[in-house]
Amino acid sequence: MLEDVPRDPFADDPDDPAAALGEPDDSEPLTPAERDEAITDLADVEVFRSLLEPQGVAGLVLDCPECGEQHYFDWDLLRGNLRQMIENGQPQVHEPAYQPNPTNYVSWDYAQGYADGVIDTEEQR
Ligand SMILES: [Zn+2]
Repeated sequence: MLEDVPRDPFADDPDDPAAALGEPDDSEPLTPAERDEAITDLADVEVFRSLLEPQGVAGLVLDCPECGEQHYFDWDLLRGNLRQMIENGQPQVHEPAYQPNPTNYVSWDYAQGYADGVIDTEEQR
């Protein structure tokens, strides 16, 4: 295969967001609404994974609110981040997947649409 290797999105970026990981913890605790949202997201992620992982989807690509880039999160990372938000009240860790293959990731909207489609199909049986 002569496919291009996915390039590191921060290879040329002097402001590599990973560099900020070691900073003192100045993050705001989650509000109750944010925590509820994380619980809902976690349930959605479990549904998406059960439907999409057998199709070869490795995880989701999400727009990062911190740096505005798109990051690839595999299923374990998504679940781990959300659990940490829920249990520790801390916003998600800025830790995208390592050298992801973008073709294996889908957007949240795609996953949502796929899940809705499967549920519709099952209801029509
Ligand atoms: Zn980011």
